[in-house]
Amino acid sequence: MTKKTSNSTDFYDIDSLLKEEQILIRDSVKSWVKDNVSNIIEDAALESKFPKQLIKGLANLGGFGGFLPIEFGGSQIDFTSYGLMMQELERGDSSLRVLSSVQSLVMNTIFKFGNDYLKSKYLKKLAKGELVGSFGMSEPNHGSDPFSMKTNFKEKGNHYIVNGSKMWIGHAPICDIAIVWAKGENNKLAGFIVERGTEGFSTAKINKKWSFRASETGELIFHNMVVPKKNLLHITDNMKDLYDRLNIGRFGVAWGSLGIAMECYEIALNYTNEREQFGKKINSYQLIQKKLVDMLSQITQSQLLVWRLSLLADEDRASFEQVSMAKKINVEMACNVAKISRSILGGMGITAEYPIMRHINNLEALITYQGTEEVHTLIIGKKITGISAIK
Ligand SMILES: Cc1cc2nc3c(=O)[nH]c(=O)nc-3n(C[C@H](O)[C@H](O)[C@H](O)COP(=O)(O)OP(=O)(O)OC[C@H]3O[C@@H](n4cnc5c(N)ncnc54)[C@H](O)[C@@H]3O)c2cc1C
Repeated sequence: MTKKTSNSTDFYDIDSLLKEEQILIRDSVKSWVKDNVSNIIEDAALESKFPKQLIKGLANLGGFGGFLPIEFGGSQIDFTSYGLMMQELERGDSSLRVLSSVQSLVMNTIFKFGNDYLKSKYLKKLAKGELVGSFGMSEPNHGSDPFSMKTNFKEKGNHYIVNGSKMWIGHAPICDIAIVWAKGENNKLAGFIVERGTEGFSTAKINKKWSFRASETGELIFHNMVVPKKNLLHITDNMKDLYDRLNIGRFGVAWGSLGIAMECYEIALNYTNEREQFGKKINSYQLIQKKLVDMLSQITQSQLLVWRLSLLADEDRASFEQVSMAKKINVEMACNVAKISRSILGGMGITAEYPIMRHINNLEALITYQGTEEVHTLIIGKKITGISAIK
């Protein structure tokens, strides 16, 4: 009798729940990553250099703001397709998913709040990768609590004068435009579109980091920055307007983490089928099989979670708390799976011959960014109890 094995990460036949178009999008992103990313990404991460040459290719794949209407540069894909795209990009490296996510977050914010002038000026160029965007909310002293931000604006004639700085901003060193959030009188919160070259605006790169090494992260600095009034995107006294924007980024992290976990699992599974110790392949040992079972079980739970979340998002019913739960659970899951994978590969697991340590390092940033695991826990805790324990 032939032995039946399962090499697939699709243990519950989730593929049969997907539409043909969704599978096509997933598979084309996966093969683009294999052909264009796999052979350069390890060096890019080791050298801490973002592979800029990938921007155009990712734009051609529809990787930027794909869920927007066609007239604004999107392709109106649904949330499952978008998620599958994030999964396959982050399977390659977090830097790619970050590129797509930040660009999409910027586009989504302009689409939501921008007038016709701002939409027509920026959206298509962002979709084509002709412009790279940044989203500046966090500050050196205000990360989890962005509403206490110190960056401020004052009206002056036809302009706003902005002072302050933003920290940990994806693509800050290379961005052409940045969405910058600042506070004004009476705690008003405003979002501006700032172009590189604007008077009083500069950027800096964070050079020494162990995570997201192939991604450019940095600071946005505003010293009496002069922003024309026509670049005002939104002004509000409701912080929720800003938090709402973050959902799409968190959604991307939930799916992206899954991509990391699937990649680490598949590498470990193949390795156990080749590696021999004590005269036998290591996949024949019970302890190794338990590790594989644990990994695949956790991946399967997370797949079902984001699949359902995506359907809710398509119906505009995905709550803030549901997105928080998916982000938190899937990052935790990927951390577990990646670490088990590393242990299965023994010494080889720490080398750059395999991507596992790079993914483990990237996961450290995923724990923190787009809201820390503690903040997401408290968001869900508030939903359960009705009591906010955040402050
Ligand atoms: C690689 C990277 C890329 C990023 N990209 C962007 C970007 O593009 N745009 C952007 O705006 N931001 C970005 N960020 C910033 C990110 O969103 C913040 O790092 C994050 O919100 C946490 O803020 P902090 O680092 O200041 O940590 P802090 O807020 O100082 O938190 C420190 C610790 O205290 C905990 N903590 C805080 N408050 C509470 C509480 N009430 N109860 C219990 N525990 C609490 C936190 O969970 C954490 O463990 C990025 C960060 C990283 C690392």
